[in-house]
Amino acid sequence: MSDILPPCPECASTYTYQVDALLNCPQCGHEWQPGTAADEASEVRDSVGNVLRDGDTVTVIKDLKVKGSSAVVKVGTKVRGIRLVDGDHDIDCKIPGIGQMGLKSQFVKKVAD
Ligand SMILES: [Zn+2]
Repeated sequence: MSDILPPCPECASTYTYQVDALLNCPQCGHEWQPGTAADEASEVRDSVGNVLRDGDTVTVIKDLKVKGSSAVVKVGTKVRGIRLVDGDHDIDCKIPGIGQMGLKSQFVKKVAD
């Protein structure tokens, strides 16, 4: 059991305190159940298990058809400045020559920029 309480998911205040099973935030009054925090759920990993973050650069590991067009995102395409979003396609990004689109994290691999 750790003494360090997670920050408030609503306002990111670190002055959280515990009351029974709930965590409370004195800043915004938010109450929530620890352990169900967005922490783990919102962690997006690439095809090999690297944790992805906003602004990362990734490469596409397989040819991906672009929905609603004949364009294909080729394997090896480098995509800079990804943005993580909720949903089936959990990466929002701009692909050179194609434009804004959503990717699935399991089809990309993080690279050092
Ligand atoms: Zn708060």
